[in-house]
Amino acid sequence: MRGQREDYDEWARVTNDTSWSWNSVLPVFKRSEDHHASANESQSAGGPWRVEKQRLQWKILEEFSRAAQENGISATDDFNRGDKTGVGYFDVNQKRGIRWNASKAFLRPAMKRPNLTVITGAHTQRVVFEGRRCVGVEYRGNNVDYVARARCEVILSSGAVNSPQLLEISGIGNGARLHDLSIPVVADLRGVGENLQDHLQLRMAYKVDGVRTLNTASAHWWGKLMIGLQYLLFQSGPMSMSPSQLGAFAKSDPADRSLTCPDFEYHVQPLSLDRFGEPLHRFNAFTASVCQLRPTSRGSIHIESPDSAAARHRLSLLEEQAHAARTRCPRNGSAHADRIDGFRRCVDGRAFIWPQARLKSRRCSPWNPN
Ligand SMILES: Cc1cc2nc3c(=O)[nH]c(=O)nc-3n(C[C@H](O)[C@H](O)[C@H](O)COP(=O)(O)OP(=O)(O)OC[C@H]3O[C@@H](n4cnc5c(N)ncnc54)[C@H](O)[C@@H]3O)c2cc1C
Repeated sequence: MRGQREDYDEWARVTNDTSWSWNSVLPVFKRSEDHHASANESQSAGGPWRVEKQRLQWKILEEFSRAAQENGISATDDFNRGDKTGVGYFDVNQKRGIRWNASKAFLRPAMKRPNLTVITGAHTQRVVFEGRRCVGVEYRGNNVDYVARARCEVILSSGAVNSPQLLEISGIGNGARLHDLSIPVVADLRGVGENLQDHLQLRMAYKVDGVRTLNTASAHWWGKLMIGLQYLLFQSGPMSMSPSQLGAFAKSDPADRSLTCPDFEYHVQPLSLDRFGEPLHRFNAFTASVCQLRPTSRGSIHIESPDSAAARHRLSLLEEQAHAARTRCPRNGSAHADRIDGFRRCVDGRAFIWPQARLKSRRCSPWNPN
């Protein structure tokens, strides 16, 4: 799913680089896309990245969607036009019901190029420098250490957790911190590992009466058999499900003029479980997770050992959030606590969706409200 128009425009503003703006990134998104609705103002067809509609419908999700609409969140069939406000089914990266990931879309077609070698099952240990010039990476595969040398450039893209880890192990980061770990400093850059952001998400499950959910549809062997057959024959149904099926984006306080775009999102699923990896509950229930889209807290992530295999990270988000809750929001002068209150109302649904008659008639009640 693409981000909100304002996110890209804000990046353009803070980096002073217009190529981050929504109007600049939209053609790039469109070039890569093969959208089920073919070409229109915000989508296009023919690219490598297949986007399809989900091949399923659940009554409980329809009811949640209608309850949200009755409460002023409009229906949408597309969260990717730059304004995400609305409630509807997510589109998915699938081709004929089968997951279409970045490897299938972009990497595999490029693998016939003579100047591309893909090495898998390899763990990059560090970035290699000659003086202050980056000349390659050290990696380990099948218990053997290798060095891959670069003639031109090295692109480090190991994610929000491992990119700062590899930089610090390689001597790029806060000089004092690296010194304490006996890592020779190549470049003293204090920003490495700082400004970590995450959005808090609470996964709330609700028991319902008189409507079937995946919990009971898959409880017995014949239910599982039907689900398997549906996928085998039509590539549809629960086995084609992405992690979340229905979404809703809205403002926690529609009257707050400082909120220019949605600040919370629901992910709704026709199932419930205590923890991921554990079995589904035996009763009918759905899960509506809610997350903050614009957290103000900032954390950090740093290595605690110079050994890459044993490096651990410290996420100080909780400390930072406690701090944020105590301080004032510089943007509009209101306390962060107000925002947290808005979030709390979204979590227990009082603000938006649960009071609607449609869900009340299902005797919708929180499961394990803790
Ligand atoms: C549940 C979930 C839903 C999301 N939904 C969306 C969405 O709808 N839209 C959106 O835009 N974004 C979404 N995101 C965020 C998006 O997935 C990330 O922003 C994006 O994947 C980051 O890409 P990346 O290439 O920087 O890092 P990653 O995708 O994390 O890739 C880093 C890769 O480097 C590898 N790696 C790490 N360390 C090493 C090492 N030492 N040696 C070798 N390999 C290494 C990892 O195995 C990984 O394959 C979602 C994220 C999550 C978790």
